[in-house]
Amino acid sequence: MLIKNGTVVTENESRRCDLRIEGERITAMGNLDPIDGEEVLDAGGLLVLPGLIDPHLHIRLDTGIYSTPDDWEIGTREAALGGVTTVLDFATQFPGQSWEQALEARQAEIRGKAIVDYGLHMMVTDRRAAGSFEEMAAAGVDAVKVYTTYRPNYYQDDAALLEIMGRAAKAGLPIMLHAENDAIVTEATERLLAGGDRALRFHGRARPEFAEVEAAHRACFLAAEAGCVLYIVHNSSPRTVDVIEAARRSGQVIWSETCPQYLTLDESVYETSDAWRFILQPPLRSRTAVEGLWERVLRGTVDCLGTDHCDYSIEQKRAADDFSKTPGGLPGLETLLVLTYDEGVVKRGLKMERLVALCCANPARAFGLYPRKGTIAVGSDADIVFFDPEQEWVIRADERVGTARYNPWEGRKVRGRVRRVFSRGEEIVSEGECRAEPGRGRFCGKL
Ligand SMILES: [Zn+2]
Repeated sequence: MLIKNGTVVTENESRRCDLRIEGERITAMGNLDPIDGEEVLDAGGLLVLPGLIDPHLHIRLDTGIYSTPDDWEIGTREAALGGVTTVLDFATQFPGQSWEQALEARQAEIRGKAIVDYGLHMMVTDRRAAGSFEEMAAAGVDAVKVYTTYRPNYYQDDAALLEIMGRAAKAGLPIMLHAENDAIVTEATERLLAGGDRALRFHGRARPEFAEVEAAHRACFLAAEAGCVLYIVHNSSPRTVDVIEAARRSGQVIWSETCPQYLTLDESVYETSDAWRFILQPPLRSRTAVEGLWERVLRGTVDCLGTDHCDYSIEQKRAADDFSKTPGGLPGLETLLVLTYDEGVVKRGLKMERLVALCCANPARAFGLYPRKGTIAVGSDADIVFFDPEQEWVIRADERVGTARYNPWEGRKVRGRVRRVFSRGEEIVSEGECRAEPGRGRFCGKL
C-alpha cells in the first residue's frame, strides 16, 4: 500500500513524503511510485501522523469503590476514533495478589476485545505480596504505578515508596507516580465535610495545588535516593513541572505528564450546575495555572500528554451532590488529539512536531516502545493517522461512542479532524467509522 501526497510529521520535522506499507510495517519513505497492482491512498491536504500513544488511561476501571461501565472493546474503539493506536493502561495488584495474578486477571478482561495495541503498567498496592519486579518486567509489564494518596487501598507511605522505587530501579522499570500529599488533602476534605461543605463546588478546595507540588517534590527526592526513573502523572500545576525540571537539572531522569483537561478547562466550572462533569483528581485549577502549564508545554518542559480517561456514566457522576462521593475522572480518548491541536497548535502556536513529541514519541520512549511505535520511519509499525488540519466541527457527546454519554467539552467548536486511522497497516477507522475486529489489538510487552 502506498500513501501519497501527505505531509508526514514526526517529532523532528514535517515534510511532503510518500510512505509504503507492506504487511504491518513501513518499508519505504520518499518520492515513491506505485508498483504493479499496489493500492494507492491519496493523503493530499492532510497531515500524516504517527498513531498516538496514550500513556495514562483507565479502561474498565475498578477502584474497589466505583467501576466504569465500559469494556475493552468500547474503550479501544474510543481510542481508535481519536487517533490513539496504542493504549498503556494498568493492571491492579489488589492486596494479597501476586503480579502474575494481577496481570492475568487484566489480560482476561482484554482478551478478544482490544481493537488497538496495548501495554500495561502494574499498579502495586501490596508490595510484600507483589513478587519479583524483574520477572514482571520480563513478562512485558512496562512500569510500576504508585500513589501518595487514597487511603486505605492505594496509599504508600514514604518508606514503602522508597522500597518500591529501589526494586523498580533494579528491574529497570520506571515508577509512575500520582502526586498529592495525603495528609493535606485528607485534612482539607474532612474540614470541609465537617462544616457541611459537601457540594461539588468545594471539590477544588479539598485538594489544593500545593499538595501536588509537595508530593512531587518528595517523590523526586526519594527517586534520587533510590536511583529510579520517575514519571509523574497528570501534573495539574505549573509548579509541579518546575519541581521536575529542577530535579532533572541535577541529573535525574524524570518525565512530566499533563492532560488535555488541565490545559483546556479551569476551576470556574465548579461554580456551575454542570460541576459533576468535571470532578477528577487532581482537580481543575485556576486560569493562571492553565496558562502556566501551556507556557511549559510550549517551552518543552512537559514531556507527555495522557488522557487519564475514565468512562463513568452520567448516572454515576450525578448520583451524589457531594464531592467526596462523586467518582473522579473524565472521558478523553476521542478528544486528546483534536483538543491538543486546536488549543495548542491553532490557538497558541505549538509546533506540530512538538505535538507529535508529546503524544507519540515521548510516551513511546518513556515506556520502551520507541522507535517501533511513536514515529514514522522505515521499520516502524504502520500506526498512522490521517488528520485534516482545517476541518471544523463541534464536540457532542451523542456522537461519541463511550459509556459516559456526556462530554466535558460539550458544544466546543474545534478545528482539526481524524479522517483515517491505520494500526499495523490495517485501516481501523475511516471517516468516523471504526470497523476493526475486536481482539486484533496486541500486547506491546510481547511485541
Ligand atoms: Zn489515572
